[in-house]
Amino acid sequence: MSATAIWTIPEVRSALDARKISARELVKEFYARIERRNAELNIFLALSPERAYAQADKVDAAIAAGDALPALAGVPVAVKDVISTHGIPTTCGSRILQGYRPAYDATAVTRLERAGAIVLGKTNCDEFAMGSSNENSAYGPVRNPVATDYVPGGSSGGSAAAVAANLAVAALGTDTGGSIRQPGSFCGVPALNPSYGRVSRYGLIAYASSLDRIGPFAHTASDVATVLSVIAGRDPRDSTSASVPVPDYVAGIGKSLHGLRIGIPDDYFGEGIDPEVRKKIEAGIALLEKLGCKRVSIRMPNTEYAIAAYYIIATAEASSNLARYDGVRYGPRVPGATLIEMYQKTRGRGFGAEVKRRIVLGTYVLSAGYYDAYYLKGQKVRTLIARDFREAFEKVDAIVTPTSPVPAFRLGERTANPLQMYLADIYTVTGSLAGVPGISVPSGKTASGLPVGLQIYGPAFGEDRVLHMAHAFEQAGGQEL
Ligand code: GLN
Repeated sequence: MSATAIWTIPEVRSALDARKISARELVKEFYARIERRNAELNIFLALSPERAYAQADKVDAAIAAGDALPALAGVPVAVKDVISTHGIPTTCGSRILQGYRPAYDATAVTRLERAGAIVLGKTNCDEFAMGSSNENSAYGPVRNPVATDYVPGGSSGGSAAAVAANLAVAALGTDTGGSIRQPGSFCGVPALNPSYGRVSRYGLIAYASSLDRIGPFAHTASDVATVLSVIAGRDPRDSTSASVPVPDYVAGIGKSLHGLRIGIPDDYFGEGIDPEVRKKIEAGIALLEKLGCKRVSIRMPNTEYAIAAYYIIATAEASSNLARYDGVRYGPRVPGATLIEMYQKTRGRGFGAEVKRRIVLGTYVLSAGYYDAYYLKGQKVRTLIARDFREAFEKVDAIVTPTSPVPAFRLGERTANPLQMYLADIYTVTGSLAGVPGISVPSGKTASGLPVGLQIYGPAFGEDRVLHMAHAFEQAGGQEL
C-alpha cells in the first residue's frame, strides 16, 4: 500500500473482505499520514485515536465473526469541528470554545458510527463556520493540499482538505451559504449540500439555524451517496428534519442522463466570473450535453439580491445563536469586576473579528426601527429566490452553475476586504436560501492547476438526481476537462 494511495469506500470494503488489511491497520495508516502532513496543512484540530481504535476493533471483531458488515465498516472519516462529538474537543474554530468537550454526539456522527465508520478527529474551519477561506479560524488557516500557498476554501476547509490530501476517506462538513460546496470546489473533491431537513442538525453547533446543513465530502460521487444514505433521514431530536423517505442513493446512480433538461442561468456567466472558471464550466456543460442532457436557458431574476438577503438573515440568526457564549456555560471565562464586565471581556477576547462583525451586523438588522427595512425585507427576498428555483424546476430537471466565480486564491490575498469575500458566495447562497440540494463536482483545472467546481442543483429532496448526474459527469472524465 502506498503511503498516499486514495482509498474509496468500496476499496476499504474489498480490502477488509479479502483480509488484506484490518480496520485497526487502516486506522493506523491514516494516523501515520496525518502525522506526516498535519503540521504543514493544519487540517485536524483534534484527533480521537482511543475512540477510533475501539471502533476499529469492533469492526475487526465483526469480520472475524463473519457478521454482515454495515455500509461504512472500517471507513476512516473526519468531522468538521462545529459538529459535536462526545468527549472530543469541539471548538468551532473559536477561542471561546477552547477546551469544550460536548456531553453528547451529533446525530450525524452517531449514524456514521452505527454504520461502522471510524472518526479520526475534528477538522479546522472558519470560526463558527463564518468565512470562505478558513482564514477566520482562531487556530490558523488550513493550507490547500493541491497548492499549499492557497486557501482550501471555507468554512469547511479542513474537511475538504482532509479528503483531498487522502487523510480521510470521507468527511462531514456544514453548509450555510456554500461552506461545503465551495471548499469542495477549491480542493477538487465532490461535495454535497443536501436539502434543508434531509440530515439532522442535532448536535450541530448553530451558526444560522434556518440555513445550516450537514453534508459529505468524498473522493467520488458514489461515496458521497453512500455517506448521505447513512446520515439522512428524520430524527426526532431535530424538529426541522423532514419525514421524507430516504431513497437508496447508491442504487440510484449509474443510469443514463439522456433527456435530462439542465437549466443554465445565462446571466451567471457575465461580470465577476474568472475567465478560466467560465471556460471550464462551459466545457462541463458541453460534457453534460454530450451525455444526453438538454441545455435550457433559464432566468433566476432575484439572484442579484441573494448576497444581501443572505448576509442579513444569516447574521441575524448568528447574533441570536451566539448569545449563549457568555463565559458561564461553555469555554474559558475572563473574569471581570461585574457580571457585565465578565461577559464583555469573555466575548471580547473569545470571538475573532469576523464573528464580532457579524454579531454587530445581525444585532443591527434585528433592532427596533431597522427590522422591517432589513430583516423582514431579507425574508421577502428569500421567498422570491425560492420561487425562482420552483419556477425553474417546472422547466428543467437540474440547474447547472459554477460553484464559485473564482478558483482558490493565495493565503492572505483577500482578507483585507470582507465584502469582496462575501460577493464570491453568489452561486451558493441562492440554493441555501431556497433550501434545495446542490453538489459541487470537479470540472477541470485552471492553467496553474487549481481545481474548478461545477455545481448541480436539484429540487428539494432531489439528492438522488444530483448524485446520479455528478456520478455520470465524473465517470465521463469531468475532472480532466
Ligand atoms: N461564506 C459564507 C459565510 O461566510 C458561507 C459560510 C457557510 O456556509 N457556513 O457565511
